[in-house]
Amino acid sequence: MSVQSVSQILSLYDKLQPSSDTPLLDVELLLAHVLDVDRTWLKTWPDHQLREDQIDLFNQLFSRRLNGEPIAFIIGVQGFWTLDLKVTPATLIPRPETELLVESALELDLPTDARVLDLGTGTGAITLALASERPLWQLTGVDSEPSAVKLAEFNRQHCQLDNVTIYQSDWYSQVPIVGRLSKYNLIISNPPYIEIDDPHLTQGDVRFEPASALISGADGLDDLRQVIGLSTAYLESSGWLMVEHGSNQGEAVRALFYQCGFVNVQTLADFNSADRVTMGCWSAKD
Ligand code: GLN
Repeated sequence: MSVQSVSQILSLYDKLQPSSDTPLLDVELLLAHVLDVDRTWLKTWPDHQLREDQIDLFNQLFSRRLNGEPIAFIIGVQGFWTLDLKVTPATLIPRPETELLVESALELDLPTDARVLDLGTGTGAITLALASERPLWQLTGVDSEPSAVKLAEFNRQHCQLDNVTIYQSDWYSQVPIVGRLSKYNLIISNPPYIEIDDPHLTQGDVRFEPASALISGADGLDDLRQVIGLSTAYLESSGWLMVEHGSNQGEAVRALFYQCGFVNVQTLADFNSADRVTMGCWSAKD
């Protein structure tokens, strides 16, 4: 029987060098998943010997990673903000860049009981992160895909967040417009925004994610045009719209905000200094 220790398994990270930007982290996450421990445990017990069934399972998962499958789909979870979220191939894997949306939303001067709408919620990442920080906000997350709605609802229950409602809606299609008092103080969205012929779609993790969550027409702006264009019917006067977009789309997205009458429009850069989030304030004319 072959015996293998934690440290021997971790040294396999070398093999992932060609296909992953984070080979050691990947191997640590896979092994921690197989042993049902956290990554610190691996560092504390380098000589721990794995059982044969654990080695078999590790090898299976490792070969999926060698094949390029994202770690989050292999282990079925992704950390976002302070939450561990279940992920499936039905939705986009939450990205660290998207935490900029959460961070910026928390900095807005909104009412204590703000009403917030998250369009295309996917795993529920944005809305659940906001809900965890602002227990008095009333949040709604919608997605057009039934499997995403199910997943976001699972994550909502798992995170025990009672101030969030999740339901199915293709952008605003099922969101009721019911008079002034029930409009939103903030609409937030990370819609698909990649151009259909972007070569980046054939590389890395995105190959395994659903096209419907990534691609948005020839210029990548089809969905942003809908999210921005219809937003003013759903926003309170002085409410905010905040969207994520591609690094080359800042100017076009700001133009869409201005066309709709938004003020205080600004684009924020992510931790890679790439334009990533545009926001604006809707000042309704009475
Ligand atoms: N930021 C993602 C990527 O470039 C795409 C996410 C999206 O389209 N909303 O991989």
